[in-house]
Amino acid sequence: MLIVVRCAKVPTLALCAVLAPALAAGADWSEQQLATAGALRDRALSGTTAYEHVTSLVTEVGPRSAGSSGDAAAVRWALNKLGSLGFSQVRSQDVLVPRWVRGHAEVTLAGPNAQSLVAVALGGSVGTSDEGVEAQVLEVASLDALNALPATTVGGKIVFINQRMERTRDGAGYGATVRNRAEGPSAAGHLGAAALLIRSVGTSDQRHGHTGSLNYRVDAPRIPALALSNPDADQLARWLKPGKPVRVRVKSTARELPSSWSANVIGEIPGSERPNEVVLLGAHLDSWDLGQGAIDDGAGVAIVIEAARLIGRLERKPARTVRVVLFANEEFGLSGAKEYARLVGDAAARHVLAVEADLGAGAVWRIQSKVAPDAVPAVDAIREALKPLALEAGNNEARGGSDLRPLHALGVPILDLSQDATNYFDVHHTVNDTLLQIDPKTLNQVVAAYAVTAYLAASKNGDFGRVATEEKEQR
Ligand code: ZN
Ligand code: ZN
Repeated sequence: MLIVVRCAKVPTLALCAVLAPALAAGADWSEQQLATAGALRDRALSGTTAYEHVTSLVTEVGPRSAGSSGDAAAVRWALNKLGSLGFSQVRSQDVLVPRWVRGHAEVTLAGPNAQSLVAVALGGSVGTSDEGVEAQVLEVASLDALNALPATTVGGKIVFINQRMERTRDGAGYGATVRNRAEGPSAAGHLGAAALLIRSVGTSDQRHGHTGSLNYRVDAPRIPALALSNPDADQLARWLKPGKPVRVRVKSTARELPSSWSANVIGEIPGSERPNEVVLLGAHLDSWDLGQGAIDDGAGVAIVIEAARLIGRLERKPARTVRVVLFANEEFGLSGAKEYARLVGDAAARHVLAVEADLGAGAVWRIQSKVAPDAVPAVDAIREALKPLALEAGNNEARGGSDLRPLHALGVPILDLSQDATNYFDVHHTVNDTLLQIDPKTLNQVVAAYAVTAYLAASKNGDFGRVATEEKEQR
């Protein structure tokens, strides 16, 4: 018999939780669990301490690129924070990470009326010699256009990929242009270019460059690669427009250092009935060096910590464990995510669901999934539990945060709580990634979505199945 307990009318969660749930056969949740989810949602919407967590990380640690002293400080911060907030099983997993330093970059329009252009080295780029590289600029509209050119046209030139990123709510504009950054350097190097300049893969009209990792191929020479700020890319394009040769000088002291150690940091809210089964809430602890790492991914760190902390305060914990994993080095090779998946072994089968917060501090507007087809109605039910947030229904083809890819390749179902990315790429990976970009109230909305999702996934009668993916090669 189903005992219906309307906990929303009960003044406190503690009193609500005293009443034992009764679950109808085949139902995913009891009425009481759904009511607890509603109370959890409303509590988060009325105020959380997520903003305090990200303020603490940004202030006490700041930028934390993989293997840097800031990265080591971030690991210590996370262990202390999870411990002081009452998480269980707080621990670290050592992760070997590549180490790269940006150094100093100079890009100059050469000639009698020489002008400086604002640019930043792409993550992982080699530097130049002390005197730099000077060559004629070859402008191309896209990576595909570059790949269509013969080496005789490209050889010895400084290639400029002038493709503007489109501003979209779902971040699709980033996906469409980020290949310029990742693949452009080797595409240009393979054709004999002396260096690569790209228009920043970002939407800002401010004079700062957008960094992010490149991916050198083994079969192409490693050439220096930098991103021009959008206003400076505009300036270079205007110089090129008349069709006369334009020369640019590039100097960069970027360089690779020996690999270093970092760590994934993990903490848990233990499950009350099936503690070996895990709902994973992920974010990444590292950041790029330019800003404070507030929206990428300090916000995500704060969101998942706070969502799990709120679940930990419930009188009656969900059946499964809610595990927070703060991954090492997402930015420069997914080192922590790969190591977590390597160490997880057979326990991957007991990872019931994984969700990552890595799209800034904007409001959640959509829920998408990649779960077994018969679990899709449960995703709809989670959306229903978040009804005041008016989330849109996505499809069942979600890809999840990048740290989830190696786990997903092991068959772990994932959920995407899509955050509004309209303005995210104005500050992402730039000097402007600062605390000022985060609105505490909006952050509460995101925490509400994560807390309810994690609570319901960890309480669900039955799981989300396993998923087949085509991403196994990415491990
Ligand atoms: Zn990120
Ligand atoms: Zn990033």
